[in-house]
Amino acid sequence: MNLVLFGPPGSGKGTQAKILQEKQGWPQLSTGDMLRAAIAAGTELGKKCKAIMDAGELVSDAIVIGIISERYDQPDCAHGAIFDGFPRTIPQAEALDGMLKTRDKKIDLVIELKVDDKVLIDRVKARIAQSGGAVRADDTPETLQNRLNVYYQNTAPLLEYYKKQGKLVTVDGMAPIEEVTKSIAEVIKKAG
Ligand code: AMP
Repeated sequence: MNLVLFGPPGSGKGTQAKILQEKQGWPQLSTGDMLRAAIAAGTELGKKCKAIMDAGELVSDAIVIGIISERYDQPDCAHGAIFDGFPRTIPQAEALDGMLKTRDKKIDLVIELKVDDKVLIDRVKARIAQSGGAVRADDTPETLQNRLNVYYQNTAPLLEYYKKQGKLVTVDGMAPIEEVTKSIAEVIKKAG
């Protein structure tokens, strides 16, 4: 199954994608992780993206579409994949649909983790408190506010895009992690 985990920054997409990867064997394709790996490796791509990511802005559609297509062609995606943090714009979603179509595949399901802004801000503050301040450069209340603005402006319109395709299911992302995992499993079972 090709699945999109959808939701605002800090909604738990990464956490749930990792659990799902473990249970279902579909690899987690996180564009955020891939870009951070490029930064850590000091590649040209990483150098290009670092300032944009630190500010909580989106890197270009062309860059993320390129890295996701390359990654999706790896053999471990043959039976499906979990898209985490991609797509984030309508052009990315259209490119993803096109890319899958040429491979005789499609997005089967989009699961939205719904979390209120206030809860997201509280979660960032909790992470900072827990880590003694050592968090991702873009994981501060100030940058989160910008990432949320970017989310509502560029990414939230995808909800309508996938709703129209009849693929969108919403799950309460404010429930405890294990309950969110359970809800996702039920949604997948029903869709499967
Ligand atoms: P994430 O780990 O998914 O929160 O992504 C961290 C940062 O990487 C984002 O704030 C963006 O700057 C960049 N990024 C990740 N995925 C995308 C995407 N699909 N489109 C544009 N930028 C992205």
